[in-house]
Amino acid sequence: MANFDFNLRKFNTSNIYSYFLSHEDATKQDLALNLNLTLPTVTKNIDYLTDLGLIEVSGSRGQTGGRRAITYSLCSEARVALGLDISRHHVSVVVVDLNGKIISFIRNRLVFEYTDAYFKEVSELLKQFISDKKIDTDKILGVGIGIPALVQSDTRTVFYSRIMDFKEDTYRMFSKYIPYDIAMFNDAKAACFAEKWVNKELQNTFYIMLSNNVGGAMLINGQVYSGNDFRSAEVGHITLVPQGRQCYCGQYGCVDPYLAATNLSQDDLAGYFDNLEKTTDERTLDNWDRYLDYTASTINIIRAVLDCDVILGGYVGAYLEPYIDEIRKRTLKISTFDSNPDFIKLCTYKYESIAAGAALYYISQFIQTI
Ligand SMILES: [Zn+2]
Repeated sequence: MANFDFNLRKFNTSNIYSYFLSHEDATKQDLALNLNLTLPTVTKNIDYLTDLGLIEVSGSRGQTGGRRAITYSLCSEARVALGLDISRHHVSVVVVDLNGKIISFIRNRLVFEYTDAYFKEVSELLKQFISDKKIDTDKILGVGIGIPALVQSDTRTVFYSRIMDFKEDTYRMFSKYIPYDIAMFNDAKAACFAEKWVNKELQNTFYIMLSNNVGGAMLINGQVYSGNDFRSAEVGHITLVPQGRQCYCGQYGCVDPYLAATNLSQDDLAGYFDNLEKTTDERTLDNWDRYLDYTASTINIIRAVLDCDVILGGYVGAYLEPYIDEIRKRTLKISTFDSNPDFIKLCTYKYESIAAGAALYYISQFIQTI
């Protein structure tokens, strides 16, 4: 019985807290009405959450003259999580709040090398960021790290890393200098997690990460599908052109060497898409035309196998708004079943989705404890 009471109390507390996560503010009456709770239960929980510093009085509501009801809101920065996106030439750092919103971010140029000095430098960047942004270190839940490698579900063990050659002791190297709890994630899986965070309704969805490498993540009934050996959704290594361009994986004709952002620009995608709008240069236009066809073919393969929504994300995904109709048109043209292309969507989380997704792991974990 005691256990039952405890569970019920926790259930009520977490429901009330969730309500604040999705509403700007609420009065005790709002909570009682919408969550079907008694006012004394609401009051007890409000006191409890206020004592923990997780919610606070934010104002009052009601008619002038009548008794105004106090409103409460989430203390969105009661805890924060940090996220890193480690790529070949850059390290991004973000800080996200309990709403999952990026409060601040910075992208630093830092060329990757698997050396002690590199890992030390990453932690220096992190420390500098924390100090520049005046982040209270007591509020940091942990540091999520997105890397272009495959990572086991323990968030520590790297088991495939041909892009940047992370070794088995990567976790130890990061923890040696970063004085917080850390967890590592495959970059595309992290980006998909961020996308799911802002689109809670996502169910059967394939997320293609079109960045300097092509990755993917897959949601079935809203849950990440990891596969038998944590190698699911590796769309970058579907054979697109038999005996085609060599992929970094050693095979030929994979999707990756055709759809990687580096096909468009080595280091300046914003500049590339700016120029694309006005250019008449035939080579550029031809190259873009082929990129659109390869994208359509890849989407068509995914759709034929999985019959799910397809989200275009990653660095390139952020710039595809003006071209989405063309991509949809080309996909329909080669599709066997589809006559409505609405299953092809653009990512909502346009920038720093990898770092944010990695950080959101800690936010999500924390919310579950309430
Ligand atoms: Zn490959």
